[in-house]
Amino acid sequence: MKETAGDVASSGGAGIPPTEPPRATLTRMLMGQAVARALYVAARLGIADLLAGGPRPVDELAEAVGADAGALARLLRALAGSGVFAEVAPGRFGLTPLGDCLREDRPDSARPAAILYGEEYSWALDGLLKSVRTGAPAFEHVGGASFFAYLEQYPEVGARFDRNMSSRNAARNAAVSTTYDFEGITTLVDVGGGEGALLQAVLAEFPALQGILFDLPPVIERARRSSDQALHGRLELVAGDAFVSVPTGADAYLLAWVLHDWDDERALAILRGVRRVIPRGGRLLVVEEVLPPGDVPSPTRLLDLLMLTLVGGKERTEEEFRELLAAAGFALSRIIPTTVGVSVIEARPIG
Ligand code: SAH
Repeated sequence: MKETAGDVASSGGAGIPPTEPPRATLTRMLMGQAVARALYVAARLGIADLLAGGPRPVDELAEAVGADAGALARLLRALAGSGVFAEVAPGRFGLTPLGDCLREDRPDSARPAAILYGEEYSWALDGLLKSVRTGAPAFEHVGGASFFAYLEQYPEVGARFDRNMSSRNAARNAAVSTTYDFEGITTLVDVGGGEGALLQAVLAEFPALQGILFDLPPVIERARRSSDQALHGRLELVAGDAFVSVPTGADAYLLAWVLHDWDDERALAILRGVRRVIPRGGRLLVVEEVLPPGDVPSPTRLLDLLMLTLVGGKERTEEEFRELLAAAGFALSRIIPTTVGVSVIEARPIG
């Protein structure tokens, strides 16, 4: 029997509860924006940090952050409805496990993400209509520069972005360093490695490995301050521009969440730069989310819209990765999925 659009919706396709009328589903989706804004404001004001010691009355919180007590109560009540805070007594709020994750001092803190989503990422996504019409990243109109140039211009935002990468990726880094077998590699260059959290996780897991962290100068400057002293002697930090050249003398290159920041032409330029210096028999490891086939619920498909509007990059399917790698002179040899959504795409130089 031929399946109709109605059948798909009523079967709960794409994560839609089967009993919810379409109009209600759409309203719920649209209101997602209000939840994101509320999370942003709570994060910006640092509410979760103020509640770290236990529940407090809203008047006290309002006083501490310089807010209107009535409006702040409404904000926290709205978020309590989403499970982020709990109103333990009238006008008295405490943390839930979700709220606790907004605390700045947790290694996996979502506070940098909430602030980025409320500021720069919002400016980008606000321009989605423009990006869909033109295919160009809308962020450049409001930010006045490409996103990475903007991060160099505003070091405070740059530091927040680096921190978001590290805190967001704690589980990913553990999954990659334990799923992929780095044995047999002598020196691994992490191109666009940010603060180096992934490379450091890999080095900790494979004691014979030498690592080179490569990123733009301000990022490497920050990484120098935060890198793990225990890895001293095994971790070299190199500043540069991957579009100009990447460090030589290594037998493996890692690109984690780098290719998705660029369109095919720019991604190819980075890959060709690696191809020029990688030895015969070397390994290229691309850590990315691979777009799944079929109409399945997929955070990667939404991340793809952020990539479109923020940086002009894109998420890719397996076939797209294969073609991109081939165009740069690499043969995709394996895709190794991890338990956290990202995959390690392994490729070897051809010829
Ligand atoms: N690999 C890290 C960070 C990914 S974000 C992780 O997975 O957590 C993309 C990184 O690319 C950022 O750290 C950014 O500073 C870096 N980057 C952007 N343009 C670059 C360039 N031209 N040369 C080198 N690195 C660059």
